[in-house]
Amino acid sequence: MNTHIDFMNLALSLAQRGQGDVEPNPMVGAVIVRDGVVLGQGWHKKFGGPHAEIEAFADAKRNGADVRGAEMYVTLEPCCHYGKTPPCAKAIIESGVSKVYIAMRDPNPKVDGGGMKMLTDAGIEVVSGICQRQAESLNKPFVKHITRRRPWVIVKWAQTLDGKIAARDASSQWISKPSASPPVSCPDWRILHAGIRQHLPDTGLCRMH
Ligand SMILES: [Zn+2]
Repeated sequence: MNTHIDFMNLALSLAQRGQGDVEPNPMVGAVIVRDGVVLGQGWHKKFGGPHAEIEAFADAKRNGADVRGAEMYVTLEPCCHYGKTPPCAKAIIESGVSKVYIAMRDPNPKVDGGGMKMLTDAGIEVVSGICQRQAESLNKPFVKHITRRRPWVIVKWAQTLDGKIAARDASSQWISKPSASPPVSCPDWRILHAGIRQHLPDTGLCRMH
Protein backbone atom coordinates (compact mmCIF):
# COMPACT_ATOMS: atom_id res chain seq x y z
CA MET A 1 0.00 0.00 0.00
CA ASN A 2 1.51 3.28 -1.07
CA THR A 3 1.52 6.17 1.39
CA HIS A 4 1.30 9.92 0.96
CA ILE A 5 5.07 10.01 1.29
CA ASP A 6 5.48 7.47 -1.53
CA PHE A 7 3.36 9.55 -3.91
CA MET A 8 5.07 12.78 -2.91
CA ASN A 9 8.45 11.13 -3.40
CA LEU A 10 7.31 10.11 -6.88
CA ALA A 11 6.32 13.73 -7.54
CA LEU A 12 9.70 14.91 -6.26
CA SER A 13 11.55 12.51 -8.53
CA LEU A 14 9.48 13.75 -11.48
CA ALA A 15 10.26 17.35 -10.51
CA GLN A 16 13.97 16.65 -10.68
CA ARG A 17 13.69 15.73 -14.36
CA GLY A 18 13.30 19.43 -15.12
CA GLN A 19 16.69 20.23 -13.66
CA GLY A 20 18.67 22.51 -15.92
CA ASP A 21 15.72 23.35 -18.20
CA VAL A 22 13.27 25.23 -15.96
CA GLU A 23 15.44 27.74 -14.14
CA PRO A 24 14.85 30.37 -12.84
CA ASN A 25 11.51 28.63 -12.29
CA PRO A 26 11.38 25.96 -9.61
CA MET A 27 11.43 22.24 -10.38
CA VAL A 28 7.92 20.91 -9.78
CA GLY A 29 6.32 17.50 -10.09
CA ALA A 30 2.69 16.41 -9.79
CA VAL A 31 0.89 13.08 -9.48
CA ILE A 32 -2.85 12.42 -9.65
CA VAL A 33 -4.04 9.44 -7.64
CA ARG A 34 -7.28 7.61 -6.97
CA ASP A 35 -7.52 4.69 -4.54
CA GLY A 36 -3.77 4.21 -4.61
CA VAL A 37 -3.59 4.14 -8.42
CA VAL A 38 -1.69 6.79 -10.38
CA LEU A 39 -3.98 8.30 -13.01
CA GLY A 40 -1.52 10.81 -14.37
CA GLN A 41 1.83 12.37 -13.66
CA GLY A 42 3.83 15.29 -14.92
CA TRP A 43 6.58 17.76 -14.27
CA HIS A 44 7.58 21.23 -15.30
CA LYS A 45 9.78 20.41 -18.27
CA LYS A 46 10.91 23.71 -19.64
CA PHE A 47 10.92 27.38 -18.63
CA GLY A 48 7.85 29.02 -20.14
CA GLY A 49 6.20 25.64 -20.72
CA PRO A 50 3.20 24.07 -18.96
CA HIS A 51 3.48 23.65 -15.21
CA ALA A 52 3.62 20.22 -13.57
CA GLU A 53 -0.07 20.17 -12.69
CA ILE A 54 -1.11 20.85 -16.28
CA GLU A 55 1.25 18.14 -17.52
CA ALA A 56 -0.28 15.69 -15.02
CA PHE A 57 -3.80 16.50 -16.22
CA ALA A 58 -2.70 16.00 -19.83
CA ASP A 59 -1.14 12.66 -18.89
CA ALA A 60 -4.35 11.53 -17.13
CA LYS A 61 -6.30 12.51 -20.24
CA ARG A 62 -3.94 10.47 -22.43
CA ASN A 63 -4.52 7.57 -20.06
CA GLY A 64 -8.27 7.99 -20.44
CA ALA A 65 -8.63 8.62 -16.72
CA ASP A 66 -11.38 10.64 -15.07
CA VAL A 67 -9.74 12.83 -12.42
CA ARG A 68 -12.93 14.11 -10.81
CA GLY A 69 -12.83 13.32 -7.11
CA ALA A 70 -9.19 12.18 -7.33
CA GLU A 71 -6.30 13.48 -5.25
CA MET A 72 -3.27 15.38 -6.44
CA TYR A 73 0.25 15.47 -5.03
CA VAL A 74 2.28 18.48 -6.03
CA THR A 75 5.75 19.40 -4.79
CA LEU A 76 5.13 23.15 -4.72
CA GLU A 77 2.03 25.17 -3.93
CA PRO A 78 0.05 25.60 -7.18
CA CYS A 79 0.33 29.07 -8.67
CA CYS A 80 -2.58 31.49 -8.51
CA HIS A 81 -1.38 34.24 -10.86
CA TYR A 82 -1.24 34.69 -14.59
CA GLY A 83 2.39 34.38 -15.61
CA LYS A 84 3.54 32.77 -18.84
CA THR A 85 0.67 30.32 -18.29
CA PRO A 86 -2.76 30.58 -16.59
CA PRO A 87 -2.90 29.75 -12.86
CA CYS A 88 -2.68 26.06 -11.99
CA ALA A 89 -4.98 26.50 -8.99
CA LYS A 90 -7.73 27.48 -11.45
CA ALA A 91 -7.05 24.39 -13.56
CA ILE A 92 -7.18 22.18 -10.46
CA ILE A 93 -10.53 23.67 -9.43
CA GLU A 94 -11.93 23.15 -12.92
CA SER A 95 -10.63 19.56 -13.02
CA GLY A 96 -12.81 18.42 -10.12
CA VAL A 97 -9.87 17.10 -8.07
CA SER A 98 -11.11 16.94 -4.48
CA LYS A 99 -7.94 17.00 -2.42
CA VAL A 100 -4.46 18.41 -2.95
CA TYR A 101 -1.31 17.44 -1.04
CA ILE A 102 1.43 20.04 -1.24
CA ALA A 103 5.04 19.58 -0.18
CA MET A 104 5.94 23.24 0.33
CA ARG A 105 4.41 26.69 0.15
CA ASP A 106 5.59 28.80 -2.77
CA PRO A 107 7.70 31.68 -1.34
CA ASN A 108 7.08 33.72 -4.50
CA PRO A 109 5.23 36.85 -3.27
CA LYS A 110 2.83 36.43 -6.21
CA VAL A 111 1.72 33.11 -4.68
CA ASP A 112 2.77 32.80 -1.01
CA GLY A 113 -0.34 31.02 0.22
CA GLY A 114 -2.63 32.45 -2.47
CA GLY A 115 -2.73 29.17 -4.37
CA MET A 116 -3.78 27.23 -1.29
CA LYS A 117 -6.38 29.86 -0.46
CA MET A 118 -7.83 29.70 -3.98
CA LEU A 119 -8.17 25.93 -3.65
CA THR A 120 -9.71 25.94 -0.17
CA ASP A 121 -12.07 28.76 -1.13
CA ALA A 122 -13.31 26.47 -3.92
CA GLY A 123 -13.96 23.67 -1.43
CA ILE A 124 -10.87 21.61 -2.19
CA GLU A 125 -9.17 20.05 0.81
CA VAL A 126 -5.52 21.05 1.03
CA VAL A 127 -2.82 19.38 3.09
CA SER A 128 0.64 20.93 3.02
CA GLY A 129 4.00 19.91 4.45
CA ILE A 130 4.29 16.38 3.01
CA CYS A 131 8.04 15.85 2.35
CA GLN A 132 8.54 19.58 2.87
CA ARG A 133 12.23 19.32 3.71
CA GLN A 134 13.00 17.35 0.54
CA ALA A 135 11.05 19.84 -1.59
CA GLU A 136 12.86 22.80 -0.03
CA SER A 137 16.19 21.09 -0.59
CA LEU A 138 15.37 20.39 -4.22
CA ASN A 139 14.60 24.04 -4.87
CA LYS A 140 17.16 25.75 -2.66
CA PRO A 141 18.42 27.93 -5.53
CA PHE A 142 14.86 29.02 -6.41
CA VAL A 143 14.03 29.84 -2.78
CA LYS A 144 17.20 31.89 -2.41
CA HIS A 145 16.57 33.73 -5.66
CA ILE A 146 12.97 34.54 -4.70
CA THR A 147 13.53 35.45 -1.07
CA ARG A 148 16.95 37.12 -1.20
CA ARG A 149 17.35 38.09 -4.84
CA ARG A 150 20.67 36.33 -4.94
CA PRO A 151 21.93 33.48 -7.10
CA TRP A 152 22.77 30.08 -5.71
CA VAL A 153 26.46 29.61 -6.46
CA ILE A 154 28.54 26.48 -6.16
CA VAL A 155 32.27 26.94 -6.57
CA LYS A 156 34.89 24.23 -6.79
CA TRP A 157 38.59 24.95 -6.42
CA ALA A 158 41.85 23.22 -5.66
CA GLN A 159 43.67 24.45 -2.60
CA THR A 160 47.08 23.76 -1.09
CA LEU A 161 47.44 22.49 2.45
CA ASP A 162 48.38 26.00 3.59
CA GLY A 163 45.16 27.40 2.13
CA LYS A 164 46.43 28.94 -1.12
CA ILE A 165 44.93 28.61 -4.59
CA ALA A 166 47.66 30.40 -6.56
CA ALA A 167 50.89 32.37 -6.27
CA ARG A 168 50.78 36.16 -6.32
CA ASP A 169 53.35 36.39 -9.13
CA ALA A 170 51.27 34.15 -11.41
CA SER A 171 53.91 31.44 -11.38
CA SER A 172 51.33 28.92 -10.21
CA GLN A 173 51.33 25.35 -11.32
CA TRP A 174 48.39 23.01 -11.38
CA ILE A 175 47.99 21.74 -7.86
CA SER A 176 45.29 19.18 -8.54
CA LYS A 177 45.27 15.95 -10.51
CA PRO A 178 43.59 15.77 -13.93
CA SER A 179 41.03 13.48 -12.34
CA ALA A 180 39.87 16.42 -10.23
CA SER A 181 39.17 18.60 -13.27
CA PRO A 182 35.80 17.29 -14.54
CA PRO A 183 32.68 19.17 -13.43
CA VAL A 184 31.75 18.34 -9.89
CA SER A 185 28.43 16.61 -9.39
CA CYS A 186 26.39 17.79 -6.44
CA PRO A 187 23.95 14.95 -5.85
CA ASP A 188 21.38 17.03 -4.05
CA TRP A 189 21.12 19.70 -6.65
CA ARG A 190 22.92 20.47 -9.84
CA ILE A 191 26.13 20.36 -11.74
CA LEU A 192 28.26 23.41 -12.07
CA HIS A 193 31.87 23.77 -12.95
CA ALA A 194 33.99 26.67 -11.95
CA GLY A 195 37.64 25.85 -12.31
CA ILE A 196 40.00 28.59 -11.20
CA ARG A 197 42.81 28.59 -13.71
CA GLN A 198 44.90 31.54 -12.83
CA HIS A 199 45.29 34.14 -10.18
CA LEU A 200 45.64 37.63 -11.64
CA PRO A 201 48.20 39.52 -9.55
CA ASP A 202 47.37 42.94 -10.94
CA THR A 203 43.67 42.86 -10.11
CA GLY A 204 43.53 40.40 -7.27
CA LEU A 205 40.78 38.61 -9.15
CA CYS A 206 40.48 35.01 -10.14
CA ARG A 207 39.72 33.95 -13.66
CA MET A 208 37.07 31.30 -13.79
CA HIS A 209 36.14 29.03 -16.63
ZN1 LIG B 1 1.38 26.76 -12.01
